[in-house]
Amino acid sequence: MTLAQPKFTWPARNASAEEVLRWGVAEFGEGLAICTSFQATGSVILDIAAGIAGDAVRVFSIDTGRLSEETYELIAAVRRRYGISVELVAPDSEELSSMLTLHGPNLFYELPAKRRLCCEIRKVRPLKRRLSTLDAWVTGLRRDQASNRETVENVDVDEEHGGIVKLCPLASWSDAEVFEYAARHDVPLHALYARGYRSIGCQPCTRPVADGESSRAGRWWWENEEDKECGMHFSAAGRLRREFDVMLDQVLPARRPYSVK
Ligand code: SF4
Repeated sequence: MTLAQPKFTWPARNASAEEVLRWGVAEFGEGLAICTSFQATGSVILDIAAGIAGDAVRVFSIDTGRLSEETYELIAAVRRRYGISVELVAPDSEELSSMLTLHGPNLFYELPAKRRLCCEIRKVRPLKRRLSTLDAWVTGLRRDQASNRETVENVDVDEEHGGIVKLCPLASWSDAEVFEYAARHDVPLHALYARGYRSIGCQPCTRPVADGESSRAGRWWWENEEDKECGMHFSAAGRLRREFDVMLDQVLPARRPYSVK
């Protein structure tokens, strides 16, 4: 996708990760931030960006409130290693309280629509709020992660988030290249990789995978494969979408009597 009226000279499609990040830092300055959940791709991006911008690199993570202890330990290690602050973006407390009161703390195991609701309140809405303050963001999306990511560009316009610019500097990298870079540069990695995890998210929704299983097998393993879309890229139609919308409507109005806004 290209802008109708380009404001920038885009990096080449085959630009290196460092070239993409250098371009982003020069073009957007403080309007650019890296979003990471501290999987290996995010850790590698952070290492490259720190080499470019030092402690001026801006990093944020969505703290869903259900992350594993190992994730918090890695955040502490990253702060020490790079001398940077990691901004933790929390869910809206009233939306969270409303959802937990209506559906209980472990609603995600009950229905796909409830799992989507939890992802919406804990991840998607906090991300949208944070991105609404930025001109550009950096993510760890890669073309080889899933069939619906095969067209990921290293730089694109993010129509889902207000038309800001989205940088995916590792778009063309393989899993092996990510881990090879991490080993060569002694990048701090999530401790759960050494315990058989391949994809790391919230603690109750992530498990290790066996040899031969896909990384997706470790996420929301109790759901059918077709229901397993990442909450941040929710475009499902039909029954699931309708169930989800009804539940979201129930959660959001429920907070209004208590809102001071
Ligand atoms: S991954 Fe699980 S705990 Fe985390 S936000 Fe989604 S449903 Fe909730």
